Amino acid sequence: MSTTIAPSSTPLGGPSLPQERRLATAIPGPRSQELLDRKASAVAAGVGHTVPIAAIAAGGGVVVDADGNSLIDLGSGIAVTTVGVSHPRVVEAIAAQAAQLTHTCFMISPYESYVAVAEALNRVTPGDHAKKSALFNSGAEAVENAIKIARKHTGKQAVVAFDHAYHGRTNLTMALTAKSMPYKSGFGPFASEVYRVAASYPYRDGLSGADAAAKAISSIEKQIGADNLAAVIIEPIQGEGGFIVPAEGFLPAVAAWCRENGVVFIADEVQSGFARTGAMFASELFGIVPDLVTTAKGIAGGMPLAAVTGRAEIMDAAHTGGLGGTYGGNPVACAAALAAIDAFENDGLIERARQIESILKGRLTSLASVDARIGDVRGHGAMIAAEFVDPATGAPDAALAAAVAKACIAEGVIVLTCGTYGNVIRFLPPLSIGDDLLNEGIDVVLAALASA
Ligand SMILES: *Cc1c(COP(=O)(O)O)cnc(C)c1O
Repeated sequence: MSTTIAPSSTPLGGPSLPQERRLATAIPGPRSQELLDRKASAVAAGVGHTVPIAAIAAGGGVVVDADGNSLIDLGSGIAVTTVGVSHPRVVEAIAAQAAQLTHTCFMISPYESYVAVAEALNRVTPGDHAKKSALFNSGAEAVENAIKIARKHTGKQAVVAFDHAYHGRTNLTMALTAKSMPYKSGFGPFASEVYRVAASYPYRDGLSGADAAAKAISSIEKQIGADNLAAVIIEPIQGEGGFIVPAEGFLPAVAAWCRENGVVFIADEVQSGFARTGAMFASELFGIVPDLVTTAKGIAGGMPLAAVTGRAEIMDAAHTGGLGGTYGGNPVACAAALAAIDAFENDGLIERARQIESILKGRLTSLASVDARIGDVRGHGAMIAAEFVDPATGAPDAALAAAVAKACIAEGVIVLTCGTYGNVIRFLPPLSIGDDLLNEGIDVVLAALASA
């Protein structure tokens, strides 16, 4: 596939947008404000937004708004546009597929791109065992289906999720998600047979991986029992919960216990997958091979697609017709995924994520050594976080994280917060960002912190 776009046309988006931070107005500018006013009257209040702009184009490392502002993107639409917004080969694949076939419903008339995505996922996910995949529309839907498959395979019902977990906003995935506000509050009753145990959070629990795993396993054995437990689901690096990297040995110990006890171990790699962490999947960083892996976000360069991939004998447990969905594995989304996966594998993006890690971690760590308000810097690849605390007590400082994020947006840098305590700033730049822009973005964050 070609890497060029038509040279005669003015670039509408993608990597040929001017790679610069440019503030033409205050944020929001008048045109953005106009859209936000329309949004307020037309769109349900429950659908919030973080950055008050009307986005009209994006690519490389910038998002451009209707007022001519160009913002540095350190969020990737929450780890979705890992290959870059409107990546030229993704755009080309989408356009060609859309012109040929937009939908038949894979459950009615199968088509090749779906099968090719399944083959690619079976190849690139951790482990060299026989695998199969099924495609869906969103991360939450993938998680729901992973649980369905695990229950059918084991004939058991209980599911264990962890403190700080985020797995989505549908009913079952709300039950799996830990944080009440804003994800769950008032939306119950939640699905039954979901149990929560302590995760490994080295900065706050001080436990070794072995001790944190022993604690979690003891809770599981005492409160549920392996003979009732279908699956354990965990994000190898917890995303919304605060980019929490478990202590060394935690994940292997939990995975080994699952293997010994006939429990399906599900890695939710919806946020951490596809080169984001400097490995194709974060599971590889911890030396674990999950039974099932859920993916979405980065999979298709911005198109809605999700998947469950795993051991063939587990994936085949569901009866024919038991899995699927009208749009699952849409041909246009599949074409985008094939182009994106090709870029992850062949364009040095894993290496790029590691370079981004060294820039981000290097600068944040050296600041943390002189600014005690940064309690912890952690993460892998282009999934890095700084946790803000009260230097005297170590208590989470959510107000500081919110103030820094707000100041950054006003200065034209998109940063997102996260964390159970809301006190974490997360850095999720697209892998298409250049070093200059990344460093300028970090400069703005550090200046915002200095004046907060
Ligand atoms: C975002 C996310 C989900 C939910 O994905 P949606 O596409 O928003 O439904 C599930 N798990 C993790 C780890 C996520 O980060």
